[in-house]
Amino acid sequence: MNCGQSLLIIGTIADGHFRDQRKQTMSDFHRALVVCLGLCVFLTFKPAESLSQSSKNVTKAKPNPKINDTGDELPRGIHEYSSKNFVIRTDLSADASKELLSRLEKMLVRVSKYYGKPNSQIIEMNVVHDKKRWPPGSIPDEAINSILNDAGITLSLTLTQHNGLGEKQIAAAKSIVWAVSERGVPQHEAVHAYCHQNFGRTGPTWYAEGMAELGQYWRETNDGIQIHDEVMKYLKNSQPKDLLEITAPGQQTGDNWRNYAWRWALCHLLSTNPNYAPRFKPLGMGLMNDHRTSFEDVYGPMSKEISFEYLFFLKHMNQGYRSDLCAWDWKTKSQRLRGTATAQVKVAANRGWQASRVMVKEGDKISYSATGEWELAKSNSKVGPDGDEAGRGRLEGVLFTDYRLSEPFDLGSSGEYEAQMDGNLFVRCRDDWCEIADNQGAVTVKFKSAP
Ligand SMILES: [Zn+2]
Repeated sequence: MNCGQSLLIIGTIADGHFRDQRKQTMSDFHRALVVCLGLCVFLTFKPAESLSQSSKNVTKAKPNPKINDTGDELPRGIHEYSSKNFVIRTDLSADASKELLSRLEKMLVRVSKYYGKPNSQIIEMNVVHDKKRWPPGSIPDEAINSILNDAGITLSLTLTQHNGLGEKQIAAAKSIVWAVSERGVPQHEAVHAYCHQNFGRTGPTWYAEGMAELGQYWRETNDGIQIHDEVMKYLKNSQPKDLLEITAPGQQTGDNWRNYAWRWALCHLLSTNPNYAPRFKPLGMGLMNDHRTSFEDVYGPMSKEISFEYLFFLKHMNQGYRSDLCAWDWKTKSQRLRGTATAQVKVAANRGWQASRVMVKEGDKISYSATGEWELAKSNSKVGPDGDEAGRGRLEGVLFTDYRLSEPFDLGSSGEYEAQMDGNLFVRCRDDWCEIADNQGAVTVKFKSAP
């Protein structure tokens, strides 16, 4: 079939069966399952619950929510609700369903804006709150294990056609989501469904699952990282996984929560750090459109920078951490102060390490003076570059050399500093790394060579 010929939109999956509405000219129908583990990332799986309880009664009376447009009968207690981009079938209360739809719609605005592609077809989701309310047979075989494991699964169908040049093209794609109702699971699966329905593919496992995990943890307000405590603890206490290992081909979706944690970490870093975000979106689009590209191709030339920031991120992140505010400044040039030369830099309280423009050699003596005040939180009173009694808010420095950092050292409102090693001097307002976003103000620091 040539690509110019008309297509009929694919039908829906109900209970695992594809309802074929395609024209006879369609060929090469390919069914793919994208299995996702959503929240299973940190849970010890519960033993399988019995789903045997329940009413075989099927009611056709649909309360308030509209009738299932596939014509299927919904079990008693399962209702259908819809919004602009979603239809959900669920045993959640009407209020909880509305809240979920509202949240999914808001997230979808962000996701489709990110990819620059409005959602093109309704995303169908089955959201299970109380498993006992779903009678035997109401959850398809492909989804039952995911639901019993308090996770989710996106069942996807792809319709491909030949374009006359012997190449396969995606003609249509449809996903059906099954997810438990716990906050992040429907969000995770909705990202898969959006990507599949709008691009026909979700990319390699590391990308598909990493992006879906960003969806899982998505919140309307950007108040920094909020991931499961168990995942945070694991990432912070583990030997950092090699980036090429995280992005290695041939991985299996649904493998284990630890792999999901690393995928999340990498995708979070690449999507939020302004040094890497501009290349990340086109990489993702290329991966989902099956172009010949890879993490290595795109980031290989900046592998030292990215490795440095990846390790920095793992070391300093915690709940509330803001990768965008802690991005490393690779651009500002530093030079050694000679004679009467001076350097001046404005240091913002709500940023991580900031380039001072000063390079030192071991034994160099630098004098500095800092003026101005900053606040560590909106409610706190202002402090100068010496900080408060506990040392919070004090101007501090660190030396960067060959992609490594020295131990941080105290500076303050004025004094002399003798370099213990070669390096570029970076400075910041000392504060908990996860609490810098609410800081305000800046101080101006002048450096000159000490006699
Ligand atoms: Zn997934």
